Amino acid sequence: MKAVVYDGPRNIKVKNVADAKIEKPTDVLVRITTTNICGSDLHMYDGRTDMEPGRVLGHENMGEVAEVGKAVDRIKIGEMVCLPFNIACGFCRNCEAGFTAFCLTTNPPMAGAAYGFADMGPYSGGQAELLRVPYGDFNCLRLPPEAKDPEKQLDYVMLSDIFPTGWHATELAGVAPGDSVVIYGSGPVGLMAALSATLKSARQVMVVDHHQDRLKLAEKIGAIPIDESKGSPVDQVMKLTGGKGADKGCECVGYQCHDPQEQEHSNLTMNHLVRSVKFTGGIGVVGVFVPKDPNAPEELEKKGEIAFDMGWFWFKGQRVGTGQANVKRYNRQLRDLITAGKAKPSWIVSHKLPLTEAPEGYKHFDARDKGWTKVVLRPAA
Ligand SMILES: [Zn+2]
Ligand SMILES: [Zn+2]
Repeated sequence: MKAVVYDGPRNIKVKNVADAKIEKPTDVLVRITTTNICGSDLHMYDGRTDMEPGRVLGHENMGEVAEVGKAVDRIKIGEMVCLPFNIACGFCRNCEAGFTAFCLTTNPPMAGAAYGFADMGPYSGGQAELLRVPYGDFNCLRLPPEAKDPEKQLDYVMLSDIFPTGWHATELAGVAPGDSVVIYGSGPVGLMAALSATLKSARQVMVVDHHQDRLKLAEKIGAIPIDESKGSPVDQVMKLTGGKGADKGCECVGYQCHDPQEQEHSNLTMNHLVRSVKFTGGIGVVGVFVPKDPNAPEELEKKGEIAFDMGWFWFKGQRVGTGQANVKRYNRQLRDLITAGKAKPSWIVSHKLPLTEAPEGYKHFDARDKGWTKVVLRPAA
C-alpha cells in the first residue's frame, strides 16, 4: 500500500510499504478515504520528537471497513467509520472511567496510545491506503451512510481529533451558556474550540492569533478576532470584557508558541491566559506540552518546564485542566450535531490533496503559509 513515511526532520516521503492487516481477532481493517495532517504531526515533522524514521504518520482518520477480525461483533464490512486518534482497550481502569486518552494497556508503561505518533506506541498511522484498528468494536465510531460522500467526509473526519479536542478544551475550562471565552490560538484546534464554545451558547468568543487568514475563519463563525500583532492581547481582552477578564480561557497552541515576531516562548500563552481570564475563572489546556525537548531553543523548555506565572494564577483563584482529549467521551454527540446540520467543522479545510502530494502539504502547513489552514489527504484519489 502507499503510505506517508517519516524519514527524518522535514523529510517525509510517500512510499510503498507492507499492507496493514488484521493481526489480532479484535482488529478491524479500514480502507482510508480521508485523513488529515494535524498540527501535532508538525512536532514530529520538525524533528522535535524521537519519532523513528520509517514510521507511517497520521492519526486523524476515517474510511470504510474492509475486513474484521474473528472476535469483532458489532462493526461490519462496508460500514463508514471514524477512528478516534486515541487507541484504547475499553476494559482498563482509565477506559472504564472514560479516560480513553490514558488507556493503561495499549502503550505500557505509559498511559495512552495513538496511530503514527512519537512515544504513543508502535501503531502505524492512517496517512495510508489501509489502517489496522485495534479493539475495533470499541474504537470505531459508526457514521451514517451519507459519510460515503467525499464532501461530507470533510466534516466527519474532524471527529477523529480536532473537533473533540476543541470541545475538550471548553470542557476543561468549564464553559457554560452565557460565558465570555478567550481562546489562544486560531489553528484548527483553536477554531474548533471557538465552534464548541459557540455551540455551548457562550455569549462572547474571542480568538487570539497573529495569522490573519486564521483569524478570518474565526470571524466567519461569529467569534471576535484579536490580532496580537496590533498590541497586547491581554489589554484587548480586558477592554472587551469591561476590565474583568474572560470567564473561561482555552490554550490551543502548546509550548511551541511564537510571538508576532515569530520567536518561540514556551510560556507565552499560559501566562497570557492567567492575565486575561477573570478571578476564579477556568482554563483548559489542550495545546501540546511535552516532558522533554532536547532540541528546544530555551533551557527550561529542554526539560519540559516553563516559567509559569504561579503568583497571579494563585492570587486569582483560577482552575486549570490539561491533557489530550478522550475522544470517545464526545464523538457520538458531535457526530449527531454534524448529521443534524448543527455543526459544520469542515469550514476550516483549505486543501484537499491526493496522498502523493502529502510532502507539499506538510511543507506549506509547517511554514504556516497563508491560506494553508487545514490539509486533508485522500488516499483513494
Ligand atoms: Zn491531530
Ligand atoms: Zn484501556
